Formats: sequence, structure tokens, C-alpha cells
Amino acid sequence: METPRYLAGYPPHLIAQVRALMEQGRLGTMLGQKYGQPHTVRNDGQLYEYVQDMKDRHLRQSAPLGKVVYDGKLQVMKHALGTHTTISRVQGGRLKASREMRIASVFRDAPAEFLRMIVVHELAHLKQAAHDKAFYRLCTHMEPDYHQLEFDLRLYLTHLDATRGVG
Ligand SMILES: [Zn+2]
Repeated sequence: METPRYLAGYPPHLIAQVRALMEQGRLGTMLGQKYGQPHTVRNDGQLYEYVQDMKDRHLRQSAPLGKVVYDGKLQVMKHALGTHTTISRVQGGRLKASREMRIASVFRDAPAEFLRMIVVHELAHLKQAAHDKAFYRLCTHMEPDYHQLEFDLRLYLTHLDATRGVG
């Protein structure tokens, strides 16, 4: 078995543990027990409200939100767990940056914790473009369990890959 693409860069002993769980057919059950809570953010309007609400709680000072949508064409890994584009355009003679947030539609059916994690990730990008220390500090400020959730999200995506072939 090759290293699952979502786990590239993780220590070999961790990957071996994940492989063992998969070979025993236990990965899905384990994730289901830990993350059994679905969410009710079903459409783009609800997603916008959800993101705005979290932004109001944690990042009131940052740039206003632009469009927020679920994107069925977005590949989670290729776009580094979501995308964050800054669209600049000239408005009234001034350059205005507007933020557009696209969330891969796999999160629409994912457990509540993973949607929260990816939204935290994307909100942190409103202030920090790169995946650096300041970025992850912001993520753990909004969600103290961020690192565990990101790792478990990678397991979840690995499980989907193995069972449904979803990217
Ligand atoms: Zn990112």
C-alpha cells in the first residue's frame, strides 16, 4: 500500500498505525465513534451565516467576508484544505480587495467538527496568507483542538478515498 496522499509528511509509525486500522477495516468505525455529529449547514446561504458567526466571535477586526460557497469541483488536497483567493478590482478609483471563500463540498456531508476546522483554517487566511507559525497560532486560538482535528480530517479523507474514491 502506498502512503495515503493525505498523510504525506507524517511520521512512518503514525502511517503504519493508520494502515493497520484500514487493513482491519476499523478506520471508518473509529472515526464514526469519535465524530458522530452531523451539521445542518446544507447550502451556501447557511454556510455564509455559519462563517460570519464564527468570524464575529473570533476575528471581528479582519477584512469583511466576500462570497462564501460550497464548491463541488474543489479538491481538498490540491488546494491545501480549501482555497483562499483575493480578488482585487478597481472600485471608484481605489483598489479594493474582496475575499472569496470556497469550501470543498465534501464538507457538506462531513462531521460537524471537520466543517468547523476547515472554516477556522479559511478564516485564519483572512489574516495570514501562508501556512506559517502565526497562521497556526490563529487557528488554535479559534479552535484549541485544531491540530488534532486537522489530522483526523486527513484520516477521514483517507477513509473516503479508500472506500468511495472521492478526492
Ligand atoms: Zn490554507
